[in-house]
Amino acid sequence: MKKIPFVSLEHQNAIIKKEVEADILNTIASNHFILGNKLEQFEKEYATFSNTAFCVGVGNGLDALKLSLIALGIKEGDEVIAPAHTFIATILAIMEVGAKPILVDVNPDTYNIDCLQIENFISAKTKAIIVVHLYGNPCDMDLIESIARKNNILLIEDNAQAHGATYKGRKTGSFGILNATSFYPAKNLGCFGDGGAITTNSNTLYEELQKLRNYGSAKKYFSDVSGCNSRLDEIQAGILSIKLQHIEKWNDERRKMASYYLSLLDPRIKKQRISSFNSPVYHLFTIECKERDKLQTFLSSKGIDTQIHYPIPPHLQKACLSLGYKEGDFPVTEMLSNSLLSIPLFIGLQYNEIEYIANQINVFYKKNDLFI
Ligand SMILES: *Cc1c(COP(=O)(O)O)cnc(C)c1O
Repeated sequence: MKKIPFVSLEHQNAIIKKEVEADILNTIASNHFILGNKLEQFEKEYATFSNTAFCVGVGNGLDALKLSLIALGIKEGDEVIAPAHTFIATILAIMEVGAKPILVDVNPDTYNIDCLQIENFISAKTKAIIVVHLYGNPCDMDLIESIARKNNILLIEDNAQAHGATYKGRKTGSFGILNATSFYPAKNLGCFGDGGAITTNSNTLYEELQKLRNYGSAKKYFSDVSGCNSRLDEIQAGILSIKLQHIEKWNDERRKMASYYLSLLDPRIKKQRISSFNSPVYHLFTIECKERDKLQTFLSSKGIDTQIHYPIPPHLQKACLSLGYKEGDFPVTEMLSNSLLSIPLFIGLQYNEIEYIANQINVFYKKNDLFI
């Protein structure tokens, strides 16, 4: 068996290569690289895909989160609730606008924000909650929407890992007043560089965000607000329009691969729980293992590449020292960061490779007496 990478975009890229090449040449010939027709078209398509009225393309996922917070007027002195177990960008975005992230531990089964704990953390300063559909598994949106409504706080989704996922048939990225996403190459919908977007149903926020991403300017050389430069360029927008045509099919393929893993992996191996309301998109497929580091070394010796998401939780990162958190503050998050291992799942991964990987994992658990 040849070496199995953790992720490879080779197969996906081969499918769209000709179309992408022609599209890039077309953009070059158009002589228009920033804020043009391709972006406008992709924004319309992605809004439709997300079941929202509007979409604003921006430079990356972190900016999508940051600009969302700015557009909602969140600033110093405000508090924003977020899950403790997430990619650091969710937390950095809150810090960068000067607000204080208030972290809430996650549910040990779904790995998403623990809804039963959220209200304990809401104060008079709480302005918003950012939820993350971790690894492509939607949060419990009924509960979250009702908590946000009851406490009069704004709901923002970080949909960077869940393009196309649904909760009770509704697309993630359509629940929040603003919904941020990333098109980093390895995301389920990724471009050929950095990219991001915000989806919304609010015309006012849509217009505000169009200014914020472009020097605060709706009309060239007229700046109404203090904006930044964070735009999704024409080449990336064109590529994303091409890839968007494949995303539903690719998400289905990911679901099939995940089901195959689930049918092969010993049922005693703990995996992320998916509620029956959810249609997840398996941005990542993770397993829990008490001997995670040993398992990773073992799989590597068998030619299987894996990754850890995430080895150091945000509250224990140096960058977040000022938040005053310490080890032990979020026991579930800390347990997950010590025990989760992400195994290969990408378009082009072969079914015999999935069999081989699952088999090696089962062998490791048995050999090490990890079934209790
Ligand atoms: C990737 C990711 C981001 C950041 O996106 P970038 O485009 O890399 O800035 C934010 N949140 C989550 C949950 C992510 O997975």
